[in-house]
Amino acid sequence: MSSVAAIIEQAARLIGEAREIVAFTGAGISTESGLTDFRSPGGLWDRYRIVTYPEFLQSHEARIEYWSMRRELIPSLLEAAPNPAHQVLAELERCGKLQAVITQNIDGLHQEAGSRKVIELHGTNRSAACLSCGKSWPIEEIQWLLEGGNLDPHCDVCDGLIKPETVSFGQSMPADALETAFQLAESCDLLLMIGSSLEVQPAASVPLAACQAGAKLIFINRTETPYDELAELVVRDSAGDFMAAAVSSLLQTRSAPS
Ligand SMILES: [Zn+2]
Repeated sequence: MSSVAAIIEQAARLIGEAREIVAFTGAGISTESGLTDFRSPGGLWDRYRIVTYPEFLQSHEARIEYWSMRRELIPSLLEAAPNPAHQVLAELERCGKLQAVITQNIDGLHQEAGSRKVIELHGTNRSAACLSCGKSWPIEEIQWLLEGGNLDPHCDVCDGLIKPETVSFGQSMPADALETAFQLAESCDLLLMIGSSLEVQPAASVPLAACQAGAKLIFINRTETPYDELAELVVRDSAGDFMAAAVSSLLQTRSAPS
């Protein structure tokens, strides 16, 4: 058996034996859907200055800067489609194996693939809301305003500031999402980490919390993470190919006559 086949079989066995799986995903799971990691060279953050949350609140000019970056980002997020890695996680949830997906992504691709319990640690780019009255809009409607020349859109009810429902720099993570993420991590018996370099805290501590509570870890990521040595299995392969192969290996084992 090749080493690749052996790793796939090991992953299939760990998934098969687990009773409560939790997935933790980052930008890497969406690169196979054509979305580049904003942090990568040539990514949006190379070309635009990061506008912090306090700046967004205080300055009209900063909001124009912020929205011109978003105007470029939003269409690519809306065009991206889920890939096999998103689909396999949705399938594992449907068959009762997977409790939830905890994600650092704002692209909404897990929900589009059919995942129902998704904890979005950095919020979502699929909608925007008024910071004063809470009215919310699908992001498409805000994109129309931007493209129509409204470079600092305000709420049509109360004139408050509108912002995508993402967590910006200088804005704290939603406490309830973070708390739920840690609770899920501490109660699962297998954490499947896909596509995060585990560098952004406190989210990066979620897999660590799972490990400390006794869960096994599978890491599927192109690059090293600070917690690789804690994982039962570390995979540098394409997440989509690998997850599809592991689940099909699992199904074959189950349907094989004993
Ligand atoms: Zn409002």
